[in-house]
Amino acid sequence: MPDPTCPICGKPAAQATRPFCSRRCADVDLNRWLSGVYAVPATELDDEDGEAAPHEETPPRNGSR
Ligand SMILES: [Zn+2]
Repeated sequence: MPDPTCPICGKPAAQATRPFCSRRCADVDLNRWLSGVYAVPATELDDEDGEAAPHEETPPRNGSR
């Protein structure tokens, strides 16, 4: 397996902080991720138009079967 590289700075990742090279880069990524989540209002799991929505409005049973 090739050594993973830090997605933040491209340095070889450290085992303790994989896939990042350091805790700092992990933090950077986390902040980036969080700010990205906060920046985007609601566009990720909007199961309104999702075709594979697990919980749809499906009535359990109609009584007669
Ligand atoms: Zn890094």
